Amino acid sequence: MTRIAFIGLGHMGLPMARNLLKAGYAVQAFDLVQSAIDQLAGEGAQPAASALAATRNAEAVISMLPASRHVEELYLGESGLLAQLPTGTLVLECSTIAPESAWRVHQAAAQRGIELLDAPVSGGTAGAAAGTLTFMIGGQAETLDKARPILTAMGKNLFHAGGDGAGQIAKVCNNLVLAVQMIGTAEAMALGAANGLDPKVLAEIMRQSSGGNWVLERYNPWPGVQENTPSSKGYSGGFMAELMAKDLGLAQETAQHSGNSTPLGALALHLYRLLVQQGLGKQDFSVVQTLFRQGDSS
Ligand code: NAD
Repeated sequence: MTRIAFIGLGHMGLPMARNLLKAGYAVQAFDLVQSAIDQLAGEGAQPAASALAATRNAEAVISMLPASRHVEELYLGESGLLAQLPTGTLVLECSTIAPESAWRVHQAAAQRGIELLDAPVSGGTAGAAAGTLTFMIGGQAETLDKARPILTAMGKNLFHAGGDGAGQIAKVCNNLVLAVQMIGTAEAMALGAANGLDPKVLAEIMRQSSGGNWVLERYNPWPGVQENTPSSKGYSGGFMAELMAKDLGLAQETAQHSGNSTPLGALALHLYRLLVQQGLGKQDFSVVQTLFRQGDSS
C-alpha cells in the first residue's frame, strides 16, 4: 500500500486526505491544529507529531498550506523537509503560492533528487469533498505520470500547465477571473434585489443567460439562493476572503513581472483587502456581497 504524508488539514486538506483514505492509501497526517489531526485519525489516518514524523517511510508527501511562507518554511533550509526526505520521494505541493516560491522549492528538490510538482487546485471545498478537484500542474511530465493515481483519487481534471511553477501561474490567472466573477455577481444581485426582484428569480435568469458563470452555477453570494453554499451558512466554511486577497496579490505581482496591465485584478484586490480590514478575512470570499447590500430592501 502506498504511504502518503499529508501536511495541512484545513478546509481543503482534510477532505482531500479523506479521499486518499477512501481510495486505500495509508495516510500519515500532520497539521498545527491537533483537532484536525484527531478528526482524520478517527477515520483511519495515522496521526503524526510533526511534519517530519508524518513523512516517515512515506513514498509521497502532499502539502496543502495557506501561503508561500508556510510552504517555504516547511520545505526549505537545513531543517526543512527537502533536506531530510530520501531521494526518490514524490512531493505534491498543492497550496496556492507565488510562482517564485514554487521555483525555489522546485530548485531545492531537484538538488536533492526529489521529484516535485506544483499542483494547486480549483473546485472549492465541495470539489475537495467530492474528489472532483481540478489540478493545475507544473513540473516534469514523467513526474506527473507517477503522481497520476494519487491525484486522481482527489480530483477529476489534471492539467499539465507546463514546467516548474506553471501550475501556480495558471492558478493565479484562474483566481483573478473567479474574484472578478464573484464581485460582478454580488453587485448584480444587490442591484436586482434593491430594485424589487426576487433574488432567486434573478439568479436563475442570469444563470441561464449570457451572464451565466461558475459563481451563479454553484456559489451564489446571496444568502438563501442556493442551499449548502457558504453564503447560506453565514459565509462560513469555503474559501476565506483573506486567501483570495493573497491570490489577487500574487496575480498583481505576476502581472508586474511580465509587464501586464490587470486593472480589474487591482480593483478586486482592493475590495478583498477592504473586507480583511473590516474583520471579514476569515469568512468565505462570497462575503464580498456585504459590500453591496446597501439599498437592499429585503
Ligand atoms: P486553511 O487555512 O483552511 O488550511 C490550511 C491548514 O494548514 C490549516 O489547518 C493550518 O493549521 C495548516 N498549517 C499551516 N501551517 C502549517 C504547518 N507549518 N504545518 C502543518 N500545517 C500547517 O486553508 P484552505 O482553505 O484549506 O486552503 C489551503 C490552500 O489551498 C491555500 O493555499 C488556498 O489558497 C488554496 N485553495 C483553497 C480553496 C478553498 O476553497 N478553500 C480552493 C482552492 C485552493
